[in-house]
Amino acid sequence: MLNRRGFAPVLFCADCNWKSDCPPCSAHQVFHKGDRTLRCHHCGDTRRVPHACPACGNPDILPLGKGTEQLEEELERLLRNVQRPDGRPARIGRIDADTTKHKGALEEQLALGHSGEVDVLVGTQMVAKGMTFAASPWWLPYSPTARCSAATFARQSACFAC
Ligand SMILES: [Zn+2]
Ligand SMILES: [Zn+2]
Repeated sequence: MLNRRGFAPVLFCADCNWKSDCPPCSAHQVFHKGDRTLRCHHCGDTRRVPHACPACGNPDILPLGKGTEQLEEELERLLRNVQRPDGRPARIGRIDADTTKHKGALEEQLALGHSGEVDVLVGTQMVAKGMTFAASPWWLPYSPTARCSAATFARQSACFAC
């Protein structure tokens, strides 16, 4: 579980220390990789991700920190070779305010977890509220301190960190 939506909490330029601050309210704008936008979760300001640093032109602006989108991507990479008992690849679901905008979407995602349609759910803390399947062997709570690997996943241990 990770209490950060989006791919990364902020974009950052290593050359001039530019950060993707929100012009209207000065909170950090969150990098959403799916639709290549920077979004402010405070005032809702949304803009396209710049191709280069707006301050110095450096094309290498980097995502800083981890959001749920990035965790999902890393899990996909990590679990690429992990197979379910029936031989199909493990499936990952993501639950956060972005994937549960529609009414009932959260329940749907949770139901997929219950029924085994989704093997791993990545989610922000909102998951914990609706979560009643903590006993599911495939549930991997995100812990920033724990260490584990694909091997421990195969043993169905409940930890994941990167
Ligand atoms: Zn803002
Ligand atoms: Zn810069």
